[in-house]
Amino acid sequence: MYDCIVIGAGPAGMSAAIYLKRSNNSVIMIEKTVFGGQMNRTAHIENYPGYEKIDGPTLAATMFVQTQNLSIPYINEEVISVEKMKNVFIVKTNINTYKSKTVILATGRSPKALGLENEDFLIGRGISYCAICDGPLFRNKDVAVVGGGNSAFEEALYLAGIVNKVYLVHRNTNFRAEQSLIDKVYSTNNIEVITNNVVTKLNKNEDILKNIEINNVLTNETRILNISGAFIYIGNNPETNIIKLELSNGYYKTNTRMQTKKAGIYAIGDVRDKKYFQITTAVSDGTIAALEVSNYLKINS
Ligand code: NAP
Repeated sequence: MYDCIVIGAGPAGMSAAIYLKRSNNSVIMIEKTVFGGQMNRTAHIENYPGYEKIDGPTLAATMFVQTQNLSIPYINEEVISVEKMKNVFIVKTNINTYKSKTVILATGRSPKALGLENEDFLIGRGISYCAICDGPLFRNKDVAVVGGGNSAFEEALYLAGIVNKVYLVHRNTNFRAEQSLIDKVYSTNNIEVITNNVVTKLNKNEDILKNIEINNVLTNETRILNISGAFIYIGNNPETNIIKLELSNGYYKTNTRMQTKKAGIYAIGDVRDKKYFQITTAVSDGTIAALEVSNYLKINS
């Protein structure tokens, strides 16, 4: 029986685990893919204090080493369900069952797909949701980035340093990205910003992406972009399948103390409904939840 099981080892989950362990609680982290979460999809991070510039996987690894230096068990399994029976949480994974007095949900979000024909098939064959993972495969080639948020703009800038040309395709003229990123993109010679266009087709040549078809939503004009890679950055879906709790905008609803309506279960990071999805806010959520869990354990032991 653990004091707390943290599900998800992104920046929120790892921060929570560090605080819990340092307060002498028995804590484990369970992660279905790899520690670091969305940080692994980010090439340049320039707004995490302490690092003027760092790449996401390095920041993820630095946080992970800190958890391992504290001997926090890291379990690489997929959580299937979480149930509360009396005052015990039963956490079932694809392999084992674990028990704890509290649970912190830090399951994050997964990238949204365009939902077009061939998209699934072409993953790893020209379609990617991770520029830092796959960008180097397209050195000196032409690629597209789809989306108008911080992720699309940051990754377009990263790719521009590797590939021949980047087309940044966005469905309207309002960008969600920060102005500084927009300015950088517009002043980068090998990025062409195409607004008011949606991707309508992903065409393949045998097994690999041949080109994409885009359609101008104002003029209905169609254009073919002959690219080798398309990077999709159109937002994310929260991972809320493992336990049914009250949602808000599709995300777990919590109060400012990270508490859900079910006593002993907390939600933090990108899976929690909030306005600002940043590494810094994920770390803050993790800290708050860990301190709340410590108080809860004191009161309920
Ligand atoms: P986002 O901010 O939700 O932006 C998604 C973009 O994709 C929007 O421009 C949206 O267009 C577009 N889009 C959505 N569905 C689409 C579809 N079906 N087809 C075409 N375009 C579509 O997502 P994000 O950029 O991944 O960022 C997620 C969060 O992480 C944000 O809060 C962001 O600030 C944060 N983040 C921060 C940093 C940083 O601070 N360094 C870096 C990365 C991400 P519409 O605007 O028309 O809906």
